[in-house]
Amino acid sequence: MRKFDHINATTIEQAASFLSKSNAYAIAGGTDILGTMKDEILSVYPETLVNLNTIPGLSYIKEEGGKLLIGALTVLEDIAVSDIVKTKYPALAQAAFSTASPHLREMGTIGGNICQMNRCLYFRSPDNRFNCLRKGGNMCYAMAGYNKFHSIFGAMDGCVAVNPSDTAPALVALNATIKTSKREIAAEEFWDVAIPGSTVLEADEIVTEIQIPATSGKSAFVKFAIRKSIDFPVVNCAVLIDGSSARICLNAVYNKPYRATGAEEAIAGKAINEENAEAAGTAAVKGALALQSNKWKIQIARTMVKRAILACA
Ligand SMILES: Cc1cc2nc3c(=O)[nH]c(=O)nc-3n(C[C@H](O)[C@H](O)[C@H](O)COP(=O)(O)OP(=O)(O)OC[C@H]3O[C@@H](n4cnc5c(N)ncnc54)[C@H](O)[C@@H]3O)c2cc1C
Repeated sequence: MRKFDHINATTIEQAASFLSKSNAYAIAGGTDILGTMKDEILSVYPETLVNLNTIPGLSYIKEEGGKLLIGALTVLEDIAVSDIVKTKYPALAQAAFSTASPHLREMGTIGGNICQMNRCLYFRSPDNRFNCLRKGGNMCYAMAGYNKFHSIFGAMDGCVAVNPSDTAPALVALNATIKTSKREIAAEEFWDVAIPGSTVLEADEIVTEIQIPATSGKSAFVKFAIRKSIDFPVVNCAVLIDGSSARICLNAVYNKPYRATGAEEAIAGKAINEENAEAAGTAAVKGALALQSNKWKIQIARTMVKRAILACA
């Protein structure tokens, strides 16, 4: 690892001020950012890490004003085992529980989980061997190369990396709002379409809280990964069925969490049964566009939607 400065922020304002300096990154659990630094994957090495853990009061799960509020520094394990989350927002508890391993869940925060960088092997290649589109280069190596785990819904700006977060689709399905040091952003709009896989956060902006509206609906999260634990999703899916309406979000299928509106329309107001869930799964992948080696993910996505809907029965 190269030399870098590490600054303990004690307030949100102080963190924002440190982050406004060039080439500074926030660090929460460090389970993603430190790996990128050890492998030296970025074209410009981070000069400064601004530690958010030293800001008091950013780790909590509470109900207030008709919402579930989760502090950005809350670790995934606390979310996975929270009785409130498990009972009222099971999709999020299941998503948190499905992430990585117990050790990583004890370190990794919800804020870091939704801000993590993509896992494309070209982007993650040690020593920045591939100056890909995402890094300012002029080529997406995965487009014509190894693309078994990449986007099945096309590319934005030519990059076919996918968003790897497990909690992100649950937050979109649950209609969450991401509160930052500057504003409130609907979860659905939190990931940038112009810079694939990135968030819309400005350099000096940090996530402070996740807000989820209370719901009496049923929600569920399912994940398909190659390994049963410590593995990123090949495809995951979160569903909220609330009365006659549904919110369905897939992830790891596109540059950002993919709201499957076709599936939502297909299941809205219908009985939750095998036949209707199957039809919704088929509607979810309408318009999918496989690359050379990832056609198999279309079937996985269809099945994930079906299973997540059936899990809400
Ligand atoms: C072996 C392994 C397996 C993994 N498996 C999974 C998996 O199955 N599913 C999954 O979703 N993830 C997985 N991860 C990724 C990662 O561990 C988790 O996403 C974790 O939640 C990241 O949180 P963190 O607090 O450690 O983030 P950090 O590493 O501290 O930060 C990650 C990024 O988010 C930014 N950031 C952090 N907090 C904030 C904030 N409050 N505001 C603004 N920016 C912020 C940082 O600047 C950095 O760019 C895995 C990682 C490893 C190493």
